[in-house]
Amino acid sequence: MLTMESPIQYVKGVGEKRAQLFQRLGIATVGDLLTHYPRQYEDWTIITRLSEVVPDTPCCIKARALAKPTEHLIRKGLSLYRFHASDGSGVMQVTLFNNKYTAARIEAGQEYLFFGTVSGSFRRPEMSSPLIEPAQTGARIRPIYPLTEGLTSRYIEKTVATALLALDQQLDADALPPELRQQYGLCTRRYALENIHFPADQQALSTARNRLVFEELLTLQLGLLRLKGRGKAQNAARLTEDYTAEFCSLLPFTMTGAQQRAAADCLRDMQGETPMNRLLQGDVGSGKTAVAACVAFCAIRGGYQCAMMAPTEILAEQHYHSLSRLFELHGGITVGLLTGSMKKSEKDKVLCGVRDGTIQLVVGTHALLSDTVQFASLGLVITDEQHRFGVRQRAILAGKGQDPHLLVMSATPIPRTLALMIYGDLDISILNELPPGRTPISTYAIGTDKRERAYGYIKKHLDEGRQAYIVCSLVEEGETDLVSAEAYAEKLAKGPFSQYTLGLLHGKMKARDKEQVMRDFSENRVSILVATTVVEVGVDVPNAVLMVIENAERFGLAQLHQLRGRVGRGQYASSCILISDAQNPEARHRLKVMCDTTDGFKIADEDLKQRGPGDFFGDRQHGLPELKIADLLCDTSPLRAAQEAARSLYQQDPSLSSPAHRLLSQSVRDLFDRVGENGLN
Ligand code: ADP
Ligand code: MG
Repeated sequence: MLTMESPIQYVKGVGEKRAQLFQRLGIATVGDLLTHYPRQYEDWTIITRLSEVVPDTPCCIKARALAKPTEHLIRKGLSLYRFHASDGSGVMQVTLFNNKYTAARIEAGQEYLFFGTVSGSFRRPEMSSPLIEPAQTGARIRPIYPLTEGLTSRYIEKTVATALLALDQQLDADALPPELRQQYGLCTRRYALENIHFPADQQALSTARNRLVFEELLTLQLGLLRLKGRGKAQNAARLTEDYTAEFCSLLPFTMTGAQQRAAADCLRDMQGETPMNRLLQGDVGSGKTAVAACVAFCAIRGGYQCAMMAPTEILAEQHYHSLSRLFELHGGITVGLLTGSMKKSEKDKVLCGVRDGTIQLVVGTHALLSDTVQFASLGLVITDEQHRFGVRQRAILAGKGQDPHLLVMSATPIPRTLALMIYGDLDISILNELPPGRTPISTYAIGTDKRERAYGYIKKHLDEGRQAYIVCSLVEEGETDLVSAEAYAEKLAKGPFSQYTLGLLHGKMKARDKEQVMRDFSENRVSILVATTVVEVGVDVPNAVLMVIENAERFGLAQLHQLRGRVGRGQYASSCILISDAQNPEARHRLKVMCDTTDGFKIADEDLKQRGPGDFFGDRQHGLPELKIADLLCDTSPLRAAQEAARSLYQQDPSLSSPAHRLLSQSVRDLFDRVGENGLN
């Protein structure tokens, strides 16, 4: 008996060889096949009259063949078949190439449906290689499937039909219980599967789609709720006092209203029944670090240790320096640094301090995740630029304490709906206000012919005591960033900027050298930092006012926005210069968006529009399970409905263990299995 779990080759007519082709589409089982939803549909029920045809638009013509096709041998191996067909409003010529099979089935006087585009003049319309079906049986909505070489859409269609028939009663096993379907006006699974592949009409198609979208979003929400539920332990590091005021007296500036609100959210969490589990979202430069410092300060004053994890060594070091300055001088709090490239003896010293509790705040990279890192009393875990980490890494670090508080920070501005999906297991605070006194960043997109002028502009600012970044990516296919950044820096140092000090920063340098260059730059001993995208996240040097990006077309919007966020951090007016000769419309559009706005949320929306949610987070930032039918951007109202349904289901049956929820529970597991190693963000 065929089941949803049966290997695809057991479907009649598939066999081993075709099964391999199906594998390429990610289809291993019958269930996979049925969720290989059509990419679009051809509607053969809407008939266009020849007299009303719109040029170059696919349509369906219902016409009678006036004669059997005639064969014309064009050259060896190429035959044409031609015939005329009439629909009463006009007569068109139909041409088939090398298609003896179809031509042989056309009978004079019979009526057929022709699907394709009509070309030729209005008087003498023509159709080349249309799809042809007998008029009596062909009038339906036909699915078009995502393809791979060797499998046609028609073949997939036939296989789906065979499978649906063979599954028979099993299609009645429905993951959505009847009450739920009724409450949200959803059709059965059988109806949905039959009509998503072979819609009876447009209405049936939309009913089917609604149900499948809802089910997928519900599954996702249930999985996220389960993740969130896991965090609901007892608050083991409960704070009783609020040291925010003391912290503020250490700061060289006053926190913005948004920073104060975010810090208050965190304090409220840490004083509550359950541990804090919060996302702090704020555009680049909004001042997330100060909030994190405040929260860390309060936890430490309350008697706990704090760990802060950053995705790069440069960033970890920067946090270490600024926090130790802030805390050690004024607050008497001991801060340690732990990164992978430190000498063993240095590391051991820090590990020791962390273990015996003399180091109260440890800042580090992934090195913090190592087994050798043990805490005396870890009460708070902070991750900076969270989109670079997965849930599992966050969990490993948290596992080093007894249900410590979690604060995760992210500068990737994510549209709210998407944030709820991805970070559904977290509470959210948003910094929607920049610190005062910032002058807006002006952005210019220029061609390489204006590069010399840009150099002049840079010099003018350097002469006023400011600093600049120049970012270059791989220059040519096959070149490593090491070669190109180095070569480029050398060219600059010998040529236009021979009067200035240049620093070079790229990913392949030794950590110690990186740190040295970064320190030289932040203490203004280096005027120009030539770098690869390693400066993308977090780096904070307020005296740097120019960001020049070579080959700007190679970067995505999110990345350009992050890079630009390195300037405009202090009192001086800043600019960003995007150098590119690219002509392709998408790249031009990206550059235009950058010139038009500095609003991270607008840019994120544009980014999503261009790339779609699947690519939005890039490789590293990827975290959501891949969805097969729901579109997180467009399906916002089913999303809300699914969230509501998930919450109420979760309340009734948190572990989804009742028999009515068995299939749903299985779907949740399946969906989250696909997320893979990184887990959810
Ligand atoms: P991000 O949110 O990108 O991590 P940072 O925390 O690096 O931003 O802060 C950006 C800059 O703004 C830093 O130089 C920081 O000292 C400064 N800053 C943060 N908050 C304030 C404030 N309330 N007033 C003035 N400057 C601030
Ligand atoms: Mg930051």
